[in-house]
Amino acid sequence: MSSLLLSGRPVADSLLGSLKGEIKKLNPKLVVVQVGDDPASASYIKQKLKSCEAVGLRHEHKHLPEKTTLSELMMLIGTLNTDPDVTGFIVQLPLPKHLQSHVPDIIRAIDPKKDIDGFGAYNLGKMFLSVEFEHLPPATPSGVIELLKYYKLPIEGKHAVIVGRSNIVGKPLAIMLLNRGATVTICHSKTKNLSAMTKQADILVAAVGSPKMITKDMVKLGAVVIDIGVSRVDGKLCGDVDFDAVSEVASAITPVPGGVGPLTVASLIRNCVTAKRRQMENA
Ligand code: NDP
Repeated sequence: MSSLLLSGRPVADSLLGSLKGEIKKLNPKLVVVQVGDDPASASYIKQKLKSCEAVGLRHEHKHLPEKTTLSELMMLIGTLNTDPDVTGFIVQLPLPKHLQSHVPDIIRAIDPKKDIDGFGAYNLGKMFLSVEFEHLPPATPSGVIELLKYYKLPIEGKHAVIVGRSNIVGKPLAIMLLNRGATVTICHSKTKNLSAMTKQADILVAAVGSPKMITKDMVKLGAVVIDIGVSRVDGKLCGDVDFDAVSEVASAITPVPGGVGPLTVASLIRNCVTAKRRQMENA
């Protein structure tokens, strides 16, 4: 079976292109807060700022030293919350070790109106209601939905199986697919007989971070396969899906890199525009 390559670049370009007019009109500003020097974070931030640049979105990178204390970070969050010029901001994860256990408090401290990563309980909770209330959805799940829409791959009535249940990827994606009429199964590290689950999927999503763990024998003929996982193997980026072998059975499949990644960035920028629009409507 020859599978359709679900490249994320044209989808991201189309989404970003559609935002340019509103960015010019509303003039929002996005701020990225980085603590420490995690190399993967630095690379993600570079991509985010580059995309802001490309669409003419005002942006600022606040890079704090590794030894930044919780109260210093909270102080900055407080300042960003009240700065009327800042539309939205993100605190890039992962944080240095001494701050990791405080991540829930840090996310909770972000004003929900400016929470453009959509990680806070308010924005996640709204997603549970229906598509209409997905105002600031987490960027990666939102990117997956955009990808399926662009390639005209139906969701309604399909059985979607998601491997991974994190609060920022697996769980919110499950809700977004459910909101669009899919029947959803969520798998995780305690799931028994994973391949019996994945083999039922019309839409199979891998969001684990375990290189090539989804093998050909775990995929139903004709399934749409979305690979969110990113790992580094011998210096190269690698997804959760054994791409070459799974391509032989999938009807459509995302590459890594170049699949979901560019859409995560584009969806974050869309959230910043949405946040500005809603802030102006509510002013
Ligand atoms: P987490 O580590 O938070 O979650 C991983 C999930 O995988 C957990 O739910 C875990 O289960 C599950 N898991 C681990 N091992 C297995 C296994 N053997 N079988 C089944 N499930 C398993 O990661 P994230 O959700 O934050 O990210 C997932 C991947 O996506 C990572 O590789 C990350 O780098 C990538 N990513 C990519 C983005 C992009 O833009 N392309 C954006 C965000 C993330 P349990 O809950 O039981 O521990």
